[in-house]
This record gives sequence, C-alpha cells and structure tokens, in this order.
Amino acid sequence: MSNIEQTLSIIKPDAVERNLSEEIKNEFNKNKFKIVKEKKVKLEKSDAEKFYQVHQSKPFYNDLCSYLSSGPIVVMILEKENAVLENRKLMGATDPSKAEKGTLRKKYGLSIDKNSVHGSDSVDNAKIEIDFFFNE
Ligand code: UDP
Ligand code: MG
Repeated sequence: MSNIEQTLSIIKPDAVERNLSEEIKNEFNKNKFKIVKEKKVKLEKSDAEKFYQVHQSKPFYNDLCSYLSSGPIVVMILEKENAVLENRKLMGATDPSKAEKGTLRKKYGLSIDKNSVHGSDSVDNAKIEIDFFFNE
C-alpha cells in the first residue's frame, strides 16, 4: 500500500551561507524526494520563536531562535513514500558528530547547533510546519 507523505525541510543559515543549497537539494532529488514547494526567507526572531515553540523550556531555545533567524533559510515541502521518516534518516542524528556516514548532517553539519538541516519529526508536526511557512 502506498503512503505518500509530505514533510517540511529547512536548509538552515549555516548551509545557505556556505552556498550548499543546490548541493543539498540535489541530495533530496537523488533520494527521490519531490520538492513540491520551495522558498528562500529570512525569519524575524519572533517567527523562529513561534516555529520552535516546542523547545521553549530548553536551555538552548534562545540561541536556537537567534540562530535560525540569523540569515536566509530555504524552506521546502518534500514529498515521498514515508517522507517524514525517510527525511529524518537522510538527515541523520541531531549532532553531526554522531550522525551516520552519508547523512546530510554528517556531510554538511558543523556542530549540534549549526547542523545544516531541519526536518519534521512526525506527520502531525509536518502539517503544522508546512502550514507555518506555506499557508497562502
Ligand atoms: N539543538 C541545540 N542544542 C541541543 C539540542 C538541539 O542547539 O542540545 C538545536 C539543533 O540545531 C536542533 C534543534 O535545536 O536541530 C532542534 O532540536 P531537536 O531535538 O528537535 O533536533 P532535530 O529534530 O532538529 O534533530
Ligand atoms: Mg526536532
């Protein structure tokens, strides 16, 4: 049975700044994700705070929100069979030093905070995150 899903992907400021957007989009294409929608935006800190609301009690929340709003990001809706889990696998562990070989975070991530990509962690959160960026 087919289970086509959509998930939200973000190429974070560290990767956009290093001109890795095209290379990372190629990785999604190679791995059979369809890029349904895409845009480059620069968030205000208040937008980042809303996006990462689930983490508001964490010690890293303030730095995380400053960082996500520190420069342009590329946001995309990715579509594929089991897209949410497949994208999490392609991204690898949150900490690039712990991510498996071949994953995006292993290849491109600089540190746990500058880890180059975001991906929704569940189908429900994917819907919320897609709506956050593409609610037109
Ligand atoms: N993060 C951080 N320090 C930590 C844990 C997370 O700076 O100790 C950042 C990191 O950039 C991560 C984001 O907060 O991507 C969201 O954390 P989450 O646990 O949701 O990781 P993810 O879903 O991105 O793998
Ligand atoms: Mg997460």
